[in-house]
Amino acid sequence: MRLPEEVIVGEDLLSVLGDELRRLFDVRRILLLTGPNVRRLYGKTVEGSLGGAGFEFGVMVIEVPSLDTASEVLARNSDAQLVIGLGGGKPIDVAKYVAYKSGVPIVSVPTSAAHDGIASPFASLKGAMKPYSMVTLPPKMVIADIDVIAGSPPRLIRSGIGDLIAKLTAVEDWRLSNQEKNEYFGEYAAHLALLSAKVAMENSESIGVLSKEGIRTLVEALISAGVAAGIAGSSRPCSGSEHLIGHAIDLLEPGRGLHGEKVGVATTLSAALHGMDWRRVRDVLERAGAPTGFGQLGISRDIACRAIVRAPAIRPERYTILHKLGLNYEEACSLVDEVGVA
Ligand SMILES: [Zn+2]
Repeated sequence: MRLPEEVIVGEDLLSVLGDELRRLFDVRRILLLTGPNVRRLYGKTVEGSLGGAGFEFGVMVIEVPSLDTASEVLARNSDAQLVIGLGGGKPIDVAKYVAYKSGVPIVSVPTSAAHDGIASPFASLKGAMKPYSMVTLPPKMVIADIDVIAGSPPRLIRSGIGDLIAKLTAVEDWRLSNQEKNEYFGEYAAHLALLSAKVAMENSESIGVLSKEGIRTLVEALISAGVAAGIAGSSRPCSGSEHLIGHAIDLLEPGRGLHGEKVGVATTLSAALHGMDWRRVRDVLERAGAPTGFGQLGISRDIACRAIVRAPAIRPERYTILHKLGLNYEEACSLVDEVGVA
């Protein structure tokens, strides 16, 4: 099991980031990766805090989270002893890769709560040979400032619930693979992932209205889901057939909708295939103010159907309900129509 050493969820944490790092790490030279917007909003606070705590640091702004970007960052910062990813997904993904390749710790400082990459060992980089995430190491430290996350766009926050509800079907796919293909099934990791989904479902309304309590719960659940992946040593508890459909949509029609939005809607489909209560999935998404249909994301019925057909080929080795059923185009479309996600 590889887990974060320390997770801090609270308020006004960016201004004390330097002191928190000082407590845990005996390093001098830090590389700070961030995004353009986040740097404009919080750069001064974070850089002031790092400088105040006596760190030397370089800052790089990440625009595109690609393997090329990550390799360039790596080449130009071979002396960094610690890498910080400050931002939404992109800087954290690049930071994970760079830290992993240089053998130094990574600290995750999320400014939004849109997916479970905050604390997971997985980095999602464009230009990698696969459309899904690569395995790195989980952050040594996660520092989540609730005020900062509460100030992020509502759509990002609401999409986080889609990535959490996905754990319902991800775990079911994992169980299926255990029963039919004898794959290892981690009871504890599965329970932890399901718990994060359950907590999100129970708090969907307060997340939907963007209350501070709701956002804190969402952040904690996303961190727990990432930890579940760390315990399993694979993304199995967090990512199943619903994620494969999401990845297939990314290939067929790139750039439509957020990760959590796509997998949230796809969870309705996977739940129906598993014979689970898919209406409950749709209701939770609705209560949270997250999209319940692909049409809301500009994804057509045709693309949705084709994505379902294509999904198993994305990871042939990762057995799910889609691999078992091998739906053709017509069958996929009648599923889309039956659960009304077009
Ligand atoms: Zn995900």
